[in-house]
Amino acid sequence: MNRKNKHIPQRTCVACRQTRDKKDLIRLVCTDGGIVEVDPSAKKPSRGAYLCPQKDCWEIGLKRNRLEYALRTKLSFDNRQALIEYSNNLPGRSRI
Ligand SMILES: [Zn+2]
Repeated sequence: MNRKNKHIPQRTCVACRQTRDKKDLIRLVCTDGGIVEVDPSAKKPSRGAYLCPQKDCWEIGLKRNRLEYALRTKLSFDNRQALIEYSNNLPGRSRI
């Protein structure tokens, strides 16, 4: 893998711990109201965490509470459901 492009910001997926280009990850933020939501623009000032755009990582992130840990919050039932629904639109086992 070519890692010489150091000007490209890298982030780590909280589920699989893979480091990838920031633009290749989905950013999630914890809003002031304590709701975790997807931040497609990646520009919200809130605390953020990153997940790969694939269902596996979302499952790990949600089921093993990695996301909650990274964002230092607790997901409500509804919030968790909303994120699971979002992840259902993502591809499964990755072959990127
Ligand atoms: Zn991942």
